[in-house]
Amino acid sequence: MADRLSQGYGSLDAYEETKKSVAFPGTSEHATGLALDITSAQYVELNEKQADTEEAKWLAANSWKYGFVLRYPPEKADVTGIIYEPWHYRYVGQEAAKEMTEKNITLEEYNGRLKGDKNELE
Ligand SMILES: [Zn+2]
Repeated sequence: MADRLSQGYGSLDAYEETKKSVAFPGTSEHATGLALDITSAQYVELNEKQADTEEAKWLAANSWKYGFVLRYPPEKADVTGIIYEPWHYRYVGQEAAKEMTEKNITLEEYNGRLKGDKNELE
């Protein structure tokens, strides 16, 4: 946030931009124990280039079989409120992971379906 303030962002804009990539203290999904960050052994940087590693490609294609989903996909930032994080996986169970992967939906969209609120899927 300090970097953005120094770039001329106003306080509210700096806050809004920063929270897309840094969880407010105490609100990270990691605190649930259900999320983890997985990187290539050869490339450990947490940035979009992680997606080009063999490990990330394998995870993206196969994690659902083990009950994990890529939590913040590139085309869903407007749904999740979080930028693309090719390293961040979340355990949701095999049944949910299979359905979310087949339908290309996020946890927010999946939970909206469970509540029966179809509007949340649009
Ligand atoms: Zn993470």
